[in-house]
Amino acid sequence: MVTIKSKKEIELMREACKITGLVYKEIEKVIKPGMSTLELDHFAEKVIKENGGIPAQKGYPSGMRGVPDFPATLCVSINDEVIHGIPSAHKIIQDGDLVSVDLVVLKNGFNGDAARTFIVGNASENARKLVEITKQAFFEGIKYAVPGNRIGDISHAIGEFVENKGYSVVREFQGHGIGREMHEDPGIPNYGKPGKGIRLEPGMTLAIEPMVIEGNNDIYQDDDGWTILTDDGSLSAHYENTILITEKEPEILTLV
Ligand code: MG
Repeated sequence: MVTIKSKKEIELMREACKITGLVYKEIEKVIKPGMSTLELDHFAEKVIKENGGIPAQKGYPSGMRGVPDFPATLCVSINDEVIHGIPSAHKIIQDGDLVSVDLVVLKNGFNGDAARTFIVGNASENARKLVEITKQAFFEGIKYAVPGNRIGDISHAIGEFVENKGYSVVREFQGHGIGREMHEDPGIPNYGKPGKGIRLEPGMTLAIEPMVIEGNNDIYQDDDGWTILTDDGSLSAHYENTILITEKEPEILTLV
């Protein structure tokens, strides 16, 4: 079911989203080569708690027998890891790495979801370009996030933009509605046909999240049951914000 948030609910949700955005501002200041992904995770958790939020991904059920719930605040996925990387004390960020971070903060019973790929140190020109295209894909998509348009209009814009630049989009994972639940309807694929899917209405809150791969879009899941990697070992980047559909332009709630 697609939920339409009331004015009051939107005000509550704004707070969770603001904290999510703030965490990324703080991460940008501290992320550096030599840091473990677990250190980054602990840092983010501290910032969230100082601001009265709750890390919503921690304890998220895998839904797979034998695979433990997600153990951390952040998903941290490096280079050929696409999404859902588990922070570890043994995973040390290297100079030139692309570090994709995904985070959901819960506050007032509402969720704020965003992802960024950080370029750490001296990354290659190709790596930088991938990160830029991924971010641009989000902004291409939300040009269509206005009342009367359909989900497929957003999906199509993202997919076309990415593929025209010679990159590919992940097809097995997608954006989603968000609110009291981390994942609500509708699903928002990063490819699709214009004019398809549900019609957008003011009060909808959506997490739109291009996941882009330098090579082809084949992916696989690591034995840990969580981490998703590119089949061909090529680089991947992720960019996500929670947005609000308004009467006019969409509002990006997780950019602070
Ligand atoms: Mg996310």
